[in-house]
Amino acid sequence: MASSEFGRAVALVRDARRIVALTGAGISTESGIPDFRGPGGSWTKYDPAVFAYPQFVGDPESRKAYWRWSVEFWPQVAAAKPNDAHLALVALERAERLRCVVTQNVDGLHGLAGSRDVIEIHGNGTRTVCLSCRTSYDRNRIQERLLGGDTDPRCEACGGVLKPDVVLFGERMPQGPTERAFDEAESCDLLIVVGSSLVVNPAARLVPQAKQNGAKVVIVNLDRTLYDGIADVVLRGRAAETMGSLVGEALST
Ligand code: NAD
Repeated sequence: MASSEFGRAVALVRDARRIVALTGAGISTESGIPDFRGPGGSWTKYDPAVFAYPQFVGDPESRKAYWRWSVEFWPQVAAAKPNDAHLALVALERAERLRCVVTQNVDGLHGLAGSRDVIEIHGNGTRTVCLSCRTSYDRNRIQERLLGGDTDPRCEACGGVLKPDVVLFGERMPQGPTERAFDEAESCDLLIVVGSSLVVNPAARLVPQAKQNGAKVVIVNLDRTLYDGIADVVLRGRAAETMGSLVGEALST
């Protein structure tokens, strides 16, 4: 991949020592997990308001609608393997150039790829948790129950409501991970954004936060993002190929 923008991005990665990556759904589409806003994405078929936290907690019909969607979406997550973009971030971490990955994703693929320091600010959908006693269940176990006809799965220990261990619309973000993500953005020297439309806050605000504190910003995304205007380099391309080439070149020069 050769272009002046690509060359500038390689130089930024090569020169940086405290890189933070911010990833979104687009880093995992090439692993077979669709994003929500792209063509055919979930939000083109479902109204996300139905899945908001207050409705999920308070209304059994809303929960049933969530699980009807989830039972179809989950097999794609369960079958997904990390791709070259996830692996490129592992390589940067092992080379002691990347401090952490802040991810909006809930698919667990960064951990599966081998990234050690992953801040999951929207939680992790491979777990399902009881809202009453906090017992945690592997999502695969819940899938068996859903496929067996359970429309509103309850906790086996206490009968409480089970919720995917992810941040739903209208739900408070986990305080510790969110604060740490902002601290890391403040002190990094390069923020690489991969596969995010940057429309979901507060994650998207990490970009101006990093920029205001002197970091360079590289955005790798197929489509425009909300913060292309303040990025130092925007690479319009697929995450796996672009990140593979970018990190490969930066670490070999
Ligand atoms: P988004 O759906 O708003 O945006 C994804 C972006 O990725 C789009 O701009 C799209 O152009 C780009 N993209 C898609 N495929 C790409 C590819 N192969 N290479 C490069 N770019 C690509 O996603 P978001 O900004 O992450 O926000 C959506 C929310 O939904 C997040 O909160 C996230 O938690 C959640 N979500 C997570 C997953 C997952 O865990 N894999 C999947 C869907 C949605």
